[in-house]
Amino acid sequence: METYDALLLASTTPEPGRTRTILDPATGEEVGEAPVHGVEDLERAVEAATAAQPAWAALGHEARSAALLRAADAVDRSAEDLARLLSREQGKPLNGPNARFEVGACSGWLRATAATPLEPETVVDDGQTHAELHYRPIGVVGAIGPWNWPMMIAIWQIAPALRMGNAVVVKPSEHTPLSVLALVRVLNQELPEGLLTAVCGGPEVGARMAGHPAIGKIMFTGSTATGKAIMKTSADTVKRLTLELGGNDAGIVLPDADPKAIAGDLFWGAFINTGQTCAALKRLYVHDDIYEAVCEELTAVAATMPMGVGLDEANVLGPLQNKQQFDIVARLVQSAKDSGARVLLGGNPEPDQPGYFYPTTLVADIDNDNPLVAEEQFGPALPIIRYSTVDEAVAKANGLDAGLGASVWSSNPAEARKVAARIQAGTVWINSHGGVHPMVPFGGVKQSGYGLEFGVEGLKSLGVPQVING
Ligand code: NAD
Repeated sequence: METYDALLLASTTPEPGRTRTILDPATGEEVGEAPVHGVEDLERAVEAATAAQPAWAALGHEARSAALLRAADAVDRSAEDLARLLSREQGKPLNGPNARFEVGACSGWLRATAATPLEPETVVDDGQTHAELHYRPIGVVGAIGPWNWPMMIAIWQIAPALRMGNAVVVKPSEHTPLSVLALVRVLNQELPEGLLTAVCGGPEVGARMAGHPAIGKIMFTGSTATGKAIMKTSADTVKRLTLELGGNDAGIVLPDADPKAIAGDLFWGAFINTGQTCAALKRLYVHDDIYEAVCEELTAVAATMPMGVGLDEANVLGPLQNKQQFDIVARLVQSAKDSGARVLLGGNPEPDQPGYFYPTTLVADIDNDNPLVAEEQFGPALPIIRYSTVDEAVAKANGLDAGLGASVWSSNPAEARKVAARIQAGTVWINSHGGVHPMVPFGGVKQSGYGLEFGVEGLKSLGVPQVING
């Protein structure tokens, strides 16, 4: 019996005939039974949320923040059980920037969200006009999430929504319901009944949330295609939306960068969570002068990183979470091989393995229009593209519809900042890629979505602005 079993049993309360078996993507073994909820379960959750929200809003910021801090303590108390369940359901290893890191980020985000001040702003006070800008609760917020960082992304949506006086209905990805159910169960140790509910279900439940008249806002993280569907479905209720969608982040290595010094950070920028990260480095542009050196150093680092079953303490890379994603990565790497690109590492998955393991793969001498570059791989396969002028690299980085993150790598931070300013992305990191911070706003441009999460901006996006004038 796993240590998280008690948590799981208490979280899911499956009804007979309405369950689905969740399998471990590393082994194919059973992890647990997830309830199969439908639109009628959603209706019950929305009713409960609507009933619980006014009293929660009336508590005010201080008491709500205190509850978030208690919820953070509850997450810390169950941290190891949550991490083990997450590791088995999602596939990510316990160690490295993976399952334990993700659970730690959940309590960290709750604490930071509780501690962020948000005062009404006096926007004009000139003797004639006195105008204040306040942020009031929205009411019920719907949170729809993906399978790659299921707990952390749920917290990114839940924590600011609760802090701002809203109730929340969460719909986890159908690939990772158990992790989110268990997290919600732990949070509910410290929250009033009905305020936070998880409803498991597929696209039909998500679509109903997007169209639901009693839900005032959807926080959505997932693919661009689903984000567009939500925009359409939510139009009739003029719902507020925060859309964190797909990315295809470029990294530009300038000629003055030190290949050995940056190789470790380049690796984790691209391969965090085995590449299944929205703002991972997905296309690496390297200047001619240091192209071979970067390829060599990156290959040397990548070759040392153990991949395997998540509960094995030695591993830092895991399987793809599901068969569809495995097939996408396999197809894209095949397209690169077919084009004559040079495989530096990996590219050769074992045919008859039990899990969805795709080996760490680096591909050099690849054309910018190859599908492995132009499409989001969302897995452990990085294309490395050669460039000879910075203008060319910037044009290629900006050449896609996506604009979530990007990075510039250089020994001269001032020069790197100049290049960063020319890149169309919501965040441009210098000499690192993908790090997020609860006080630093995060969001995409172009078809990577709109709206900001985290910090004061994130809190404001979970309230409705109201001006008091007079
Ligand atoms: P997905 O869009 O397939 O699913 C996300 C969620 O949307 C799931 O819960 C799903 O059930 C739900 N859904 C599906 N159809 C729906 C509909 N018509 N209406 C409402 N909800 C619906 O995404 P995924 O495959 O789980 O996640 C991978 C994608 O998410 C990648 O493209 C990745 O880049 C992106 N992502 C973005 C961020 C970010 O912060 N920008 C973070 C993580 C992942």
